Amino acid sequence: MTTILIVEDEPAIVELLRVTLEAERYTVHEAGSAETARQMIEEAPPDLLLLDWMLPGQSGLALAKCLRQQARTKTLPIIMVTARAEEADKVAGLETWVDDYITKPFSPRELKARVKAVLRRRAPEDSDAPLQAGLLVLDPASHRVHCDGKPLTLGPLEFRLLHFLMARPDRVFTRTQLLDTVWGDEADIEERTVDVLVRRLRQALEAHRLDAMLETVRGTGYRWNPEKRDGVTATP
Ligand code: CA
Repeated sequence: MTTILIVEDEPAIVELLRVTLEAERYTVHEAGSAETARQMIEEAPPDLLLLDWMLPGQSGLALAKCLRQQARTKTLPIIMVTARAEEADKVAGLETWVDDYITKPFSPRELKARVKAVLRRRAPEDSDAPLQAGLLVLDPASHRVHCDGKPLTLGPLEFRLLHFLMARPDRVFTRTQLLDTVWGDEADIEERTVDVLVRRLRQALEAHRLDAMLETVRGTGYRWNPEKRDGVTATP
């Protein structure tokens, strides 16, 4: 499930964006201002931000700069939506702050292509770069996980779940979302199966005192919290 947050104050554009993106099976949220967007991102960062430049109050560009300067949102994919009237020289420096930009008016086809390209570039589990949390390292290329050099033995489902969560730290996922991710949309599996899988993954992590990072969020689901490294003693 890929979530896109649209930050745009013109209802007609919001509608166009929403219809186009929902047709591609993205989950779409809306914010009419940078301030509202900031709150929504704070609560649950989306997978991609479609950000209008001209907004009432804080501008889209100011929001993008602000997000790039915070550790938590530094790598959040952003596509800026600009009006044709905006000067070319302003657009020139834009790529420092955003992943891509699209100029109004744009075709649904162009929008889809750009969204897909940015998501592909940023999709963490499509990359073979190792993911790290404290002493824990997950290497997607070799499908190996180790802690301080010692291997963790994980089944394929535990590996997939850990990979998904480590690539999206601090985000809360419901059991349904995790089901779709680990088993696929088609799977006819009960939600408590997720709990069983989480328990197995926690047991594997527990052996290395890393289980605190896999948090249960009461009433919602689960979250990977790399800050929770209680048991880990890093060698200086
Ligand atoms: Ca606007």
